[in-house]
Amino acid sequence: MKIERLLRKNIRRLKPYSAKEVPCRVKLDANESPYGFPSFLAPLSDVRTNQYPDPEARELRRVAARLWRLRAGQILPGNGSDELISYLITTFGGPVLFPVPTFSMYGIIAQALGEDAVSVPLDSAFDLDVDGMLAAVRKHRPKLVFLSSPNNPTGNSFSTERIMRIVDASRGIVVIDEAYQPFSGGRGMLHLLGDHENVTVMRTLSKVGFAALRVGMLIGREDLIEAVNRVRLPFNVSALSQAVAVEALKNFSEVKKALKMIRKERERLYSGLKRTDGVTPYPSKANFILFRVGDAEAVYRGLLTRGVLVRYLGPALRDCLRVTVGTPEENGIFLAALREALRRGRQ
Ligand code: PMP
Repeated sequence: MKIERLLRKNIRRLKPYSAKEVPCRVKLDANESPYGFPSFLAPLSDVRTNQYPDPEARELRRVAARLWRLRAGQILPGNGSDELISYLITTFGGPVLFPVPTFSMYGIIAQALGEDAVSVPLDSAFDLDVDGMLAAVRKHRPKLVFLSSPNNPTGNSFSTERIMRIVDASRGIVVIDEAYQPFSGGRGMLHLLGDHENVTVMRTLSKVGFAALRVGMLIGREDLIEAVNRVRLPFNVSALSQAVAVEALKNFSEVKKALKMIRKERERLYSGLKRTDGVTPYPSKANFILFRVGDAEAVYRGLLTRGVLVRYLGPALRDCLRVTVGTPEENGIFLAALREALRRGRQ
């Protein structure tokens, strides 16, 4: 498969912004301040805040590549994976295909960029409706298919066999968004990259304790990364984010300890929800649980008056709410507030 053939015409001839790093003694070429790091930020004092960040995020890509046993050229860091979704659609254009309900930004960015978005409802178990997806692939010939697995907001992973049938049938790129993979207990889909030329994977640090950094990664074949890099805005990942992300990835075994606690707590929260009258939780492989609760909007408000904020998902999932797994204490407060809100609602 030739990536070039899939690109929008205007992207084929596009050269990426050039930000050369020229070694020098006095650097006065880029309108930076000569005054650097305040001492109160000493722990991060190696970061030169007066200069632009490494435009290529080399250390971050190197450390990520080592963690995932890939080459640095297979990784493109973004200002969150949101930015990478935007870059993918800017690079390849539409139609963009995705199942629903899913992460809303695939549709929002496609629409914002004037590209056609095609959605196919998930089946009743929230798995991919593979016949519906394959029919949409044949009819619309999407340039991009987005599959969030585990899926937000349903929490389940899609069956690998169904994902593979869509991968095999697609002439465009299939993006497997693994924002929640660290909670799934599975190994994820990075191993597909070698054998499946139209697969690319997204990961993010946002769900594993570093949402404030805004660091996501697009992971795939080097010519795809090179193509998407053409539309990347210069210095898209800040130096502080790069520096903290490097430390986070270097110490990923520490990060994993928190993930293990969240997974354990997810199971406790799931049982608590299951034991709650009027509530049906769905099994989750992510760091949140979707639960069916009848009049979701009223329960949402009932929780909020008790100081607990969960996610109301609107008309797409009218009778469901989504709750993020918190600390044991937070989950206890949530469950007590939920039971109270439901009791009040029934009176
Ligand atoms: N993909 C999915 C499936 C998500 O749920 C989210 C965030 N809610 C994102 C991507 C965006 O993540 P980031 O913070 O890296 O932009």
